[in-house]
Amino acid sequence: MNLHEYQGKQLLSSFGVRIQRGIVAQNAKEAVAAAKKLTEDTGTDWHVIKAQVHAGGRGKGGGVKLAKNLEEVETIAGQIIGMDLVTPQTSAEGKRVHQVLVAEDVYYPGESETSEFYVSVLLNRGTGRNMIMYSTEGGMDIETVAEETPHLIFTEEVDPATGLLPFQARRVAFNLGLSGLAFKEMTKFVTALYTAYVKSDSSLFEINPVLKTSDNKIMAVDAKVSIDDNALYRRKDLAELRDLREESAIEVEAGELGLNYVDLDGNVGCMVNGAGLAMATMDLIKQAGGEPANFLDVGGTADAARVEAAFRIILKDPAVKAILINIFGGIVRCDRVAQGIVDAYKNMGDAIKVPIIVRLQGTNADIAKELIDSSGLDVQSAVQFQEAADKVQAVLS
Ligand code: GDP
Ligand code: MN
Repeated sequence: MNLHEYQGKQLLSSFGVRIQRGIVAQNAKEAVAAAKKLTEDTGTDWHVIKAQVHAGGRGKGGGVKLAKNLEEVETIAGQIIGMDLVTPQTSAEGKRVHQVLVAEDVYYPGESETSEFYVSVLLNRGTGRNMIMYSTEGGMDIETVAEETPHLIFTEEVDPATGLLPFQARRVAFNLGLSGLAFKEMTKFVTALYTAYVKSDSSLFEINPVLKTSDNKIMAVDAKVSIDDNALYRRKDLAELRDLREESAIEVEAGELGLNYVDLDGNVGCMVNGAGLAMATMDLIKQAGGEPANFLDVGGTADAARVEAAFRIILKDPAVKAILINIFGGIVRCDRVAQGIVDAYKNMGDAIKVPIIVRLQGTNADIAKELIDSSGLDVQSAVQFQEAADKVQAVLS
């Protein structure tokens, strides 16, 4: 589950990580009030207005702007709230902005230059250990840095038995070229950041940029925070931070029905049990010249109610031209699934207007085929994987 920047920063701050301070606002009036309050607390008259959407690259898309007085705060906040922000990480339609973060300007001039760094915390699946990944090239797209100057990306792996050790935090500060106060600040920053990551059950922290201010403070200017979904049951406080407006409406609805559904761009709807078989089915559809419209794992109990729920979810996508049902009857018997399909189909009346190809394999597959074939419904059955693919191809062409 992803958090908004303002939520991520609050989380970091609660663990003692220094952040660029800010207040979230839902409209231009609230933005002005937020700016006034920040000026009282921080002394600065300049503010950055930052679109709060679940996508990076907001700066490039015009979603991060500097305001030098309260009039500018009001105009800029008014422009950003309600816009469809297009960034390199959104679709061409962009993402609707519902709120902005009004933050203190931290790029003020001073005794030294400001510098931007990149710091992330994530799991290295290869070694099974958390690591801190960091770079001197902050503020840029990290993918570009990885491609063009990979020697400027460093990693620090953490032994779970000891946690992040002081010498490791110092090595981070050293590799980032810091000295004096900024060096000390950076060791404190990464130590607190790592603690926050572990204690909040997060699966990703990406802080880009981490800023060294002109007076040598180290702080998080941006925060991408993802909480491990599997930990949300024990993190009710964090689960409440979920913003459903940022997620695909169909995916949210499918989730409520207990279906594992991912919306895709193609024209063939898929209903499959098991994630691996679902992936293989998507490959097969592509080979047959189609494009999967979704990934859908109905799970172990493919009864009539579940199949019907799955049909309804798949058919919400107007691009769907055919549905391929591919079920392996291991624990669940194929004839029960077949009965589920027939019942669901009948229940839905004429809601189903696209051809359906069903492939049931496993326990009682022959009885299942018989059931489908004698149902009198517009459903084609197949036993072999390839046969199903050929039938999909036939209905598409
Ligand atoms: P992103 O583009 O979605 O990654 O959003 P960021 O939060 O990283 O902000 C984008 C850019 O805005 C940063 O790289 C900074 O260069 C700039 N920025 C952020 N905060 C400030 C600020 O307080 N003052 C100024 N002048 N620029 C800022
Ligand atoms: Mn950023």
